[in-house]
Amino acid sequence: MKNLICGLAMGFVAASSSLAQSPASKQIVLHAARMLDVAGGRMVTPGEVLVEGERIVAAGAHVDRPVGAEVIDLGDVTLMPGLIDAHVHLFLHPGAEDLQTVQESVPERTLIAAGAAKADLMAGFTAERDMGSEGAGCADVAVRNAINSGLIAGPRMRMSCNAIDLTGGHEDAIGYNPAQKVLSNADYADSSEQIVKVIREQRKDGADFTKIYETGRDSFKDGVFKTPYQYTEEELAAGVKEAARTGGGVGSGRGVAVHATGEPGTGYAVAAGVASVDHAYQLSEATMRAMKEKQIYAVPTFAIAEYFADHAATPARAERERAEQAYHAAEFRKQLAAGVPMAVGSDVGPFPHGTQARELELMVQYGMKPVAVLQADLLNGAKLLGWGGQIGELKASYYADVIAVSGNPLEDISAVTKVGFVMKGGVIYRRP
Ligand SMILES: [Zn+2]
Repeated sequence: MKNLICGLAMGFVAASSSLAQSPASKQIVLHAARMLDVAGGRMVTPGEVLVEGERIVAAGAHVDRPVGAEVIDLGDVTLMPGLIDAHVHLFLHPGAEDLQTVQESVPERTLIAAGAAKADLMAGFTAERDMGSEGAGCADVAVRNAINSGLIAGPRMRMSCNAIDLTGGHEDAIGYNPAQKVLSNADYADSSEQIVKVIREQRKDGADFTKIYETGRDSFKDGVFKTPYQYTEEELAAGVKEAARTGGGVGSGRGVAVHATGEPGTGYAVAAGVASVDHAYQLSEATMRAMKEKQIYAVPTFAIAEYFADHAATPARAERERAEQAYHAAEFRKQLAAGVPMAVGSDVGPFPHGTQARELELMVQYGMKPVAVLQADLLNGAKLLGWGGQIGELKASYYADVIAVSGNPLEDISAVTKVGFVMKGGVIYRRP
């Protein structure tokens, strides 16, 4: 049985690799007016990258031009590593978030997710972490595998299957006729043992990491933000321990990430040793210190909040969304001052895929320098997704995930919204 499966799998890869158009040793030289040195926080002029197969051979102001190499002069643009989004939902699209998961079948949602993956890639995002398929179970694993085998276009993906949530918790189907048995968008776990069980089931089905809902529903009234926690520190620690047992913890791409907007849940998650605290509106002084010490990333997700404010059903609702965003922005400045490490995640899905570079603009608007946002996105993002030393920089031996943007992103971060060229793993997906 084992040999049969292995044989089938190899046949599949061999058949599909021709679709990926990835010649094993084809050499390409990319030339442009500028190239971003992310770690150094500077521009290299001009910029050149020599690519062979799926890897970068050399990058700098001038690289060798081997005989037979294709030379692509991209002109007055900036070469930079492909963008990384550490918080996406390929299985969500704009609209009533909870009803799309009720009305659309998983096969329909999977096809839509394939389109979302392509839209994100064409916008320059060459690596992403999908923070929950929202009721589509491990269908996200199929999307990831189809991308990896070259059947469809999309970023390198880290998948989590469904998120994990309490019965009656933040992502449960609350407020429906019980007789209709509307399903939760998450997998239930009500104890440490059940968290471990769900993690084992999800990993068996191909999940790369685990997402847990740790807080919600939020309330924000008269400037006071409150959110109930879902799991105790001990319960979360059981999940972190199980994730580590199956091949990694913080920074491996196989750890636990939490949806956690505020205390005490954010503090419990950090004490338990999660890889990232997503949303992170409210972090206590002690939590911020621990995040700096343990290098646990905050992922602010400002873009989704802006979209919800701009598309609110009522003016009152829009006002509340804006007030909450202002509160978060003020807390974000405190977090930066405290040295909390940041990663960049947009929560795209409920707003249109391919538009999420807006997140980098908002992080600058709310207090970070462009160079710091680019380092958070590319250097921290690579580590958070478990691809540290493989993506996030244009360096020899790294994957050839290269994009070109108009303008200079160190001077004007909005350059990252103007992507004209996309290469992932040496394959060109978009040309000017
Ligand atoms: Zn999300």
